[in-house]
Amino acid sequence: MPADDAVGARAVLTCPGCSAAMRGVTLAREPMTPLLVDVCDDCQALWLDANESQQLTPGAVIALFRAIAASEPKERAAYRALLPCPRCTTALSLTQDIQHSTRFTYYRCRYGHGRFTPYVQFLREKNFIRTLDAQELARLRAVVSTVRCVSCGGPVPLDRNAVCPYCGAPVMLLDPEAVKKALDHLEAAEDRRTATPPMSGDAVIAIATVERELEKNRREYESEHGIDLVALGMRALRSLL
Ligand SMILES: [Zn+2]
Ligand SMILES: [Zn+2]
Ligand SMILES: [Zn+2]
Repeated sequence: MPADDAVGARAVLTCPGCSAAMRGVTLAREPMTPLLVDVCDDCQALWLDANESQQLTPGAVIALFRAIAASEPKERAAYRALLPCPRCTTALSLTQDIQHSTRFTYYRCRYGHGRFTPYVQFLREKNFIRTLDAQELARLRAVVSTVRCVSCGGPVPLDRNAVCPYCGAPVMLLDPEAVKKALDHLEAAEDRRTATPPMSGDAVIAIATVERELEKNRREYESEHGIDLVALGMRALRSLL
């Protein structure tokens, strides 16, 4: 399905974070139909309709990451306290989640319409960004005294806590080597998922028999209705019995 058709068939959503029109990004999901995710580059967040996040294949995660990596953020204001669901305008609930010991947050519609996730939280969920350990913090402190909070944008002094004094988020970084590894991992998972299963040993032998017989006696098996594979098999069998 071409991306434009998918976008045209669907209403443009209003971003819960900044009220801008969201942009549809079509993610291929072989063998399922492509998935349309709504993103807002202005406030760097995405909207997934109910269950869409469960349906993200490894390839779709890679495509979404590329869309995020290519987007240019505007100077981001902190979100208002209440963000409206783009489907029903009910205030979204801030939700804490944890997956493989990684904590992340998103805003969820309590009527099940979906969830609004800042890019940074998506990157966190997929392990593209991570917190720093004590040793890393100590080395970083030698060259940096204050960092920008990934969650709220506030200044975070790199003291012993290394926690945002405004929103409590830990200091996090995007480690390019780790991202490359994570992407390679996802690519391998996608390849495994979409690969044609290898032929069984029996299937290989059966087709090799057809090839061999055709090479020897092709004309005998040919008729106006095509090659008679049963007669071919019988003949090959006779030489085995
Ligand atoms: Zn927005
Ligand atoms: Zn809703
Ligand atoms: Zn913060």
